[in-house]
Amino acid sequence: MWRIDIGNWIIDSYVTDRGLPVINAVDPHQHQFAAKLLGREEEIVAFLEDAFGPYPFESVGAIVDDYRGLAFAMEMQTRPVYGSGSFKWGWKQSWGPYLVAHELAHMWFGDLVAVNQWKDIWLNEGLASYAEWLWSDHVGEGTPQEILEATYAAIPADDPFWDVVIGDPGAPEMFRSAVYTRGAMTVQALRNAVGGAAFWQILDEWLDLNAWATGSTEEFMALAEQVSGQDLDGFFQIWLFTPEKPPESAVLSTRASALRAGGIWVRPETASWMASWLRLVELRTRGG
Ligand SMILES: [Zn+2]
Repeated sequence: MWRIDIGNWIIDSYVTDRGLPVINAVDPHQHQFAAKLLGREEEIVAFLEDAFGPYPFESVGAIVDDYRGLAFAMEMQTRPVYGSGSFKWGWKQSWGPYLVAHELAHMWFGDLVAVNQWKDIWLNEGLASYAEWLWSDHVGEGTPQEILEATYAAIPADDPFWDVVIGDPGAPEMFRSAVYTRGAMTVQALRNAVGGAAFWQILDEWLDLNAWATGSTEEFMALAEQVSGQDLDGFFQIWLFTPEKPPESAVLSTRASALRAGGIWVRPETASWMASWLRLVELRTRGG
């Protein structure tokens, strides 16, 4: 995806310890808010490389635009664009690294491997959102399993959130928050279903097989079955193609179920983390 941005920029550039050139172009009006957060790009890229493999492009960075018509962030190859307000307000400062982790995770999921058709969009947004959950674990703010359970507990069964069929949402629903959040839930549930070793192998092979090309939901499901040796038809039917809240058994990992025979219990700090996260996702799902 290409974009030309013309304006008055403050350019920050450097080379990371791993040898990757970083080029940030920041509108002067955004600089005081953006500079501190963009200062963590090196750390975030290194974290994502440890999770997903070598960074696929020859440089990384950001364009931070003050243009008011750009209300969201978007994962342009090597240079995500962050609209006005991405970093500006105080409550978003703490979310800044999550937004950067999300957009940079798209360098793997979305830019290295693009979607075959738009109906496969959960592969982009679910996996980029899942990268935020991994980042949360990394910074000690809640594990992916805790976030899965907290999200599940926070959204009642009659909430329209569950009506979106994220495996084929249709054009009007394509960037609804469910595509992001239920997408990330699906990824963690898959990790529970197949186990950690098979899970990371699925992601590795997915990126290898489809690098510089596209992938579809059908191909992802087939790969997950092949790597894990499991029949996952029922699993994907529940998570991707059924417009209702999955049963609690689909959310609890075996280990978690054994530990918590009484069902889902959410740590208070994770619950408040989740409330903010859901609000953020809702606010920014006008793109990116
Ligand atoms: Zn995204």
